[in-house]
Amino acid sequence: MRKHRGWIVLLCCAFLYFSLPAAVHTRVADGVSAAVSWVKRQVAPSAEKAAPHQSSTTSASTASTAATAKEAIVPTGKLAARYTYSFAPHTDRTVQQLFTAALNIYNQTDIVKLTPGSTGQFTNHLTLSSYQKVQTNGEAVILGLGGPQITRWTGAKQATVNHASARLNLAYRSRLNVATAVHELGHALGLAHSTAPDSVMFPTDRNVSKLSPADLAGLRAIYSR
Ligand SMILES: [Zn+2]
Repeated sequence: MRKHRGWIVLLCCAFLYFSLPAAVHTRVADGVSAAVSWVKRQVAPSAEKAAPHQSSTTSASTASTAATAKEAIVPTGKLAARYTYSFAPHTDRTVQQLFTAALNIYNQTDIVKLTPGSTGQFTNHLTLSSYQKVQTNGEAVILGLGGPQITRWTGAKQATVNHASARLNLAYRSRLNVATAVHELGHALGLAHSTAPDSVMFPTDRNVSKLSPADLAGLRAIYSR
């Protein structure tokens, strides 16, 4: 009780916080180059391109034993393993099913715990949704978006919180699969792209929905604290 009262008082004081920007991925269709840049927090979280199936010509990529890298903005060992998640209003039913399957895959790792629920200021949350955007520039088809949004609270209450989002593009409904949902959730949880073909974080869609040992190691690095 005393603890609770203290928390309320502190809430009235100014919490100092700063937010780190969400990551944006850009990627060319053939899988040759990948770049990461940063946008302001308010801008659409993480954009990345998933090219048409099996279009990668990357030659030297072999399964890596190193942990899948994390997004630069994601701290190591600071985030709680528990997340709530919710679907944005009007999220397409098929997209909900794909994300639900992907959420189960992550829950089975016992590294993170994702449960339905509303967002909280000091707790991790995932917002899942669908959208429609047709590529008009002749570049790679974008199947989904996903990324973390990290806020670090300092001062009275110390917390590092991820309010992430992941979306699937209904303009390419027939190409959507669980693998893409797993990939976008991976970004939301903090994983970056991997050059290993067996990684769910390989940038182009190869229909890999099983987290590789490197992917699991990458998640553990973020969530073990
Ligand atoms: Zn990606």
